[in-house]
Amino acid sequence: PYDVLIVGGGPAGAAAAIYAARKGIRTGIVAERFGGQTLDTMAIENFISVQETEGPKFAVALEQHVKAYDVDIMNLQRAEKLTQQDGLHQVQLVSGATLKAKAVILATGARWREMNVPGEKEYRNRGVAYCPHCDGPLFKGKRVAVVGGGNSGVEAAIDLAGIVQHVTLLEFADQLKADAVLQRKLHSLPNVTVITNAPTTEVHGDGKKVNAISYEDRVSGSLNKVELEGVFVQIGLVPNTEWLKGTLELSRHGEIQTNAHGQTSVPGVFAAGDVTTVPYKQIVIAVGEGAKSALGAFDYLIRQ
Ligand code: FAD
Repeated sequence: PYDVLIVGGGPAGAAAAIYAARKGIRTGIVAERFGGQTLDTMAIENFISVQETEGPKFAVALEQHVKAYDVDIMNLQRAEKLTQQDGLHQVQLVSGATLKAKAVILATGARWREMNVPGEKEYRNRGVAYCPHCDGPLFKGKRVAVVGGGNSGVEAAIDLAGIVQHVTLLEFADQLKADAVLQRKLHSLPNVTVITNAPTTEVHGDGKKVNAISYEDRVSGSLNKVELEGVFVQIGLVPNTEWLKGTLELSRHGEIQTNAHGQTSVPGVFAAGDVTTVPYKQIVIAVGEGAKSALGAFDYLIRQ
């Protein structure tokens, strides 16, 4: 069996693999797509000490760094079940194989919920964005829309209002769902327009970049178009934990509950990165959490 088996090859999983391997213990890492969300990212400008890089380049660097150590990398493999037997954890893969380990680190990340309207995929990274902390500064002085009036949408609109020229917040329902204190702050800002009852219907562009968004007015039934340069989609971040339901404690949003050492509700099972309840989903945070979970797993192993 492995001493530590990591599921997920994004920033969190890669950091966990390196920290585990450096302890000289038998380490394996299973990933559906090595690099994770960074493969879908254009510019990364907030990974401290790397002033600017591109997502796919960052993903290659992650894998190279892991390969510099004695780690079994099992890429393009999807885990579908986690069980325990005879004091070992077992991770079952879709391919049919079962991997055994004394400790497991779950780092399967998350995915942004998409609007599923025409233009969204086409203009992803060309005006359509999902992360205000990451991409907000790229829209300095421009006009943007935020789609979604929950806490993350309203936080994004407040954040962006300080950077961009104008923010239009579009909410499907007849009122915002964000906390009252956030809504008060939002309504006090001069360069924000809030439109409710407004399902997004299309993202428009000139073939290269976004230039407008359309929404329906659910009250009158009319279609409206707002000219702008950017669209931030804030309708939810979905953790990749469908395969873990019933095996360990998840939050009501489906995130894995962890303590300060990355330990989950199952002894010997740790978790790190976007898949957990740790707030602020960012690369630099996922990397730190990954390192922490490997140290947590090592501490656990030396006590066995
Ligand atoms: P992920 O990167 O999601 O990696 C999860 C890994 O688990 C992947 O390898 C995946 O294939 C694998 N996996 C999932 N399910 C399974 C399974 N069942 N079996 C096996 N493997 C599985 N953050 C920043 O700090 N700066 C930015 O500029 C930035 N820009 C972003 C732009 C975009 C478009 C997106 C989508 C995100 C951006 N982020 C940015 C957020 C950042 O990418 C994430 O916070 C970070 O990648 C989380 O790392 P992670 O390792 O926890 O998860």
